[in-house]
Amino acid sequence: MTFRVGTGTDIHRLIEGRELWLGGVRVEHSKGALGHSDADVLLHAICDALLGAAGLGDIGHHFPDTDMRWKGADSKVLLQHVMALLDEQGWSVGNVDSTLLLERPKIKPHIPAMRTVIAGIIGVEVNAVSIKATTNEGMGYVGREEGVCAHAVALIKKDLS
Ligand code: MG
Repeated sequence: MTFRVGTGTDIHRLIEGRELWLGGVRVEHSKGALGHSDADVLLHAICDALLGAAGLGDIGHHFPDTDMRWKGADSKVLLQHVMALLDEQGWSVGNVDSTLLLERPKIKPHIPAMRTVIAGIIGVEVNAVSIKATTNEGMGYVGREEGVCAHAVALIKKDLS
């Protein structure tokens, strides 16, 4: 068995008049994340962690925001594409750990649904998908509720026998 790890970070601006999608789940809020796709920072960070672990570049390379195919795209579809790329090379996922940084709303009630959605797409048990959340204590762009940020780490594995 060979193992690789990768990290991912994503940031999107928060504005009024957009839906807020986080971890593949719609979260009720007065603002949403601005982006070419549904701007799901958590799924984007996880995509980048997986691509990084496999040495396959980043999300901007595979899903450029100049490509109309991804306009308004459900980021769960992007994650499915990333998994297909990994699968082609024989990789499967060990686990994913992640952290969301945003001031509001409270994320804790949504975490079980997010874990279930992500685990289903990346082919692991729910307990192999960790999602943590923190505020920024009122400081910086997260604290001013101008943006939302996510970090992720992924372990992938391949059986060489
Ligand atoms: Mg993004």
